[in-house]
Amino acid sequence: MNLEKLSINTATFKNLSLRHVVDLCVKNNIKAIGPWRDKIHEVGLKEASRIINASGLQVSGLCRGGFFVADNNHNWDDNKIAIEEAAELNAGCLVIVSGGMLANNKNLSQTHNYIADGLAKMTELGNEMGVPIALEPLHPMYAADRCSINSLKHAIDICEQIGEGIGVAIDAYHVWWDPDVDAQIKRAGELGKIYGYHVCDWLAPTTDMLLDRGLMGDGVIDLKSMTQKIESTGHNGFTEVEIFSKKLWQLPPDEMMEKVIERFKNEV
Ligand code: ZN
Repeated sequence: MNLEKLSINTATFKNLSLRHVVDLCVKNNIKAIGPWRDKIHEVGLKEASRIINASGLQVSGLCRGGFFVADNNHNWDDNKIAIEEAAELNAGCLVIVSGGMLANNKNLSQTHNYIADGLAKMTELGNEMGVPIALEPLHPMYAADRCSINSLKHAIDICEQIGEGIGVAIDAYHVWWDPDVDAQIKRAGELGKIYGYHVCDWLAPTTDMLLDRGLMGDGVIDLKSMTQKIESTGHNGFTEVEIFSKKLWQLPPDEMMEKVIERFKNEV
């Protein structure tokens, strides 16, 4: 993929400070960054905003809000702050991971309804504050405790129901296995609801459910094909490289960045 589209998600450089990731991006002529909120909180919102603005980097998306089941009020105190942070950072969207199942409740559709209510509330505030809400479905292995929205179809259904101001973040790692994924990418594109695209690779075998994601090209995902399908909808936003990997976090940052750029060019 064209390097102009590359955005670096800070999860790829988990051990570095925001300042360090920003400097690394600038040094490598990268145009955008996708920060996680913990990196923002380490320096404080004002300082984070200053660092990013001074660098000239765009913020493709802020990760993340959601986790609606954390309390019985849609985790609203934190989610409100997340929207305010995204607004301050001029983020292209606020990425949402829904959170898992309601406590002591095996009725999954009640969890889904509760999540949809939380998303509707967030979208209302997002619309007021100019922050697009990007719902990211996660792989079904996280359905119980991290994210009960597990397919692109389900995510788009919810977005369509809510209406303006909410779309999907398509993370290749989470949706590649789905036989319906191509049709749903097309559908999201037609609805104008592709708000984000994240890439890394699925290693086979995967040794850790969370922290063993691969560099693009090292796993089983046909990323070029997915990219082509996303681009053919007319989607023209940034593509975030987001790699949670205990192994890759050990590499010297310059070496890791060199690999990311090379793989983004040739494998995405
Ligand atoms: Zn993602």
